[in-house]
Formats: sequence, structure tokens, C-alpha cells
Amino acid sequence: AVMFVSVRDLKVHFPAEEGLIRAVDGLTFSVESGKTLAIVGESGSGKTAASLAMLGLHGPRAQVSGEISIGGEQIVGASQTTLRQLRGERMAMIFQDPLTAMHPYHRIGEQIIEAYRAHHRVSSKAASQRALDLLDRVGMADPRRTFESYPHQLSGGMRQRVMIAMALSCDPQLLIADEPTTALDVTVQAQILDLLKDLQREFGSAIILITHDLGVVAEMADDVAVMYAGRAVETGSVRDVFYRPSHPYTWGLLESVPRLDLHRERLTAIPGSPPALAALPRGCAFRPRCAFAAQVADGRCASDIPNAHDVGENHAIRCHLSEAARSEARALHAAST
Ligand code: SF4
Repeated sequence: AVMFVSVRDLKVHFPAEEGLIRAVDGLTFSVESGKTLAIVGESGSGKTAASLAMLGLHGPRAQVSGEISIGGEQIVGASQTTLRQLRGERMAMIFQDPLTAMHPYHRIGEQIIEAYRAHHRVSSKAASQRALDLLDRVGMADPRRTFESYPHQLSGGMRQRVMIAMALSCDPQLLIADEPTTALDVTVQAQILDLLKDLQREFGSAIILITHDLGVVAEMADDVAVMYAGRAVETGSVRDVFYRPSHPYTWGLLESVPRLDLHRERLTAIPGSPPALAALPRGCAFRPRCAFAAQVADGRCASDIPNAHDVGENHAIRCHLSEAARSEARALHAAST
């Protein structure tokens, strides 16, 4: 399989008064063309910092190291010019709130045209036609009318469709969608997810979906990376992670979603809160909230950061529990829920 995106040992650190903020601390994953990887975690887990780094949008204060390869292009260390070009031609981002990415006083049509012409030398007539086609393609009932509208005249769902049209204007091979449907009601959410899946089938794009919503993951993704405090604590196929979850944090996450089809569930069932990224606990960052640390010998959870190790084919976790202890703990955990 062709890996369109490959990320190796990515670190995104921010120097701050309270210490070095390790927003992302050793993240590794890959995504094939036509596939969707969901990066799941609470806020502050590093999922958004990682996606911004992939687009080269992490800001000047961030110290980024490791490797990000998108369609063979190296992102870490690339010039602003190269990054801008890649953002127009290979990758595009879809934000949770399209209003933040749109100009409030420009008509929708002009904005799509502008996005398109930034990277294509075409006449304004051809660009307008392209904008209308895209608005039609993302399911606007009256593309001409949307073209003439201002952002505030559209509903949240329509704005998200416009955002997708803008992202598609350059046929990106990678779409990064950050909580694309969180602000929408359930029916509209389902329509937008269907649209993304359709477009993915049509264009063969790789999608990285940043979300806290396991319902959306079940619906959309092929693979999942569960992030906690800047690290992926469990990675694998949706099937493995949902049906054979192997990390204590993932057990907690899944427990907070009584039904996978209930989209709006928040990740609140695990007692405690994530650690401050500038003051991570020694050893495993999840230890202060983990009910299983006592089952690991020599207090290793408090001294050693667990390395990623395989628990199945393409299924890995970062946890010190032995396999025997893990099955026992999982059974205990299941019995208590
Ligand atoms: Fe819990 Fe220890 Fe595993 Fe961390 S390494 S998740 S503290 S058992």
C-alpha cells in the first residue's frame, strides 16, 4: 500500500515560563491514500498541535522535530514558500468553525475563487465556473445563490459544505478535518460525514480526522490513534481499538460512550483530568488516573515512559502491563462497568 502520509517521532514543543510544553511528544503514524485515520483525544492531548504541524501552521514559537512526509515531501524544516504551495496543492484543512476560516465581508463565490486562483492560473470566468461546480458538488441546492451570499447568511451546515468546497478547490490528496461536525446538529453532522466519505471515494484523498467523538470515529475511520498528553497510547484499526481495546485509557474512553451511535457523548467518564503538558508526571503520563498501575512491578509506571509495543498486527499500545495482567485487568474492568 502507498503511504501518502508518514509521521515519525514527531515532537511539537513550546518554550513557556512554566517550562517546556510538550504538546506532541513522539508521535508516529501513517495514512494510505483513500483511507481515514482518526486521531482521538481530549482537549490538550496534542491532536490539534499535531495537525497544525502537518500543515506547517504551528507558529514560530514551536520547536518541531521528527519527520512528516506528505506525498514524499518533507514538511519539517520546509520553507514557508514550499509549505504555502503544499497547502494549496496537496493538503487542505477543514476547521470546526468555518467562520474562522472565512472572510466575513466577502461573498462565498469570491472566497472560493480566491482560494482556487492562488494556485491556478485561470481566467476569472473559468474560476467562477469552478466555484459553482464545487458548490453543486458539495450539495448546495442553489449554487448560484450560495455563490452570491455572505458567510453569515448561511446555516452552520451550509458553511461547512462551503468550507469543504474551498478545501476541494485544489484537489488535495490529504484533507485534515479538525472536529468538522462538532458544532452541527446530529442530522446535519451525518450529512457532512456522508459528503466527506463520498468525496474521499471520488478523489482518493487520505483523511486525518481530529475528533473527541468516538461515534464519528466508528462512522468514518479505518484506523485510530488514541492520544493522551502528547503521545499515542494506542494505535490500530477501528475494529481492534473498539473491540479489543488494550490500553487503560482507551478502556476509560470507550466506557464514556455507552452507545457508539450516540454522537454527542463527551469524554468525561475517567476520573481526574489530563496533566499539565509543561509538568508531565514521571513515567507514564496516565498514571495519576490509572487504576492499574499497582499491577505493574517495581513501580515502573512512575519511573519509565512506556514504549510503543505490538499487541497484535498493526495494533500497538504504550503501557507496562504484562499480557496476563492486561487480560485480567480488562476482565475486571469489563465486570465493573
Ligand atoms: Fe496504567 Fe502503568 Fe499502563 Fe500507564 S503504563 S496505562 S500507569 S498500567
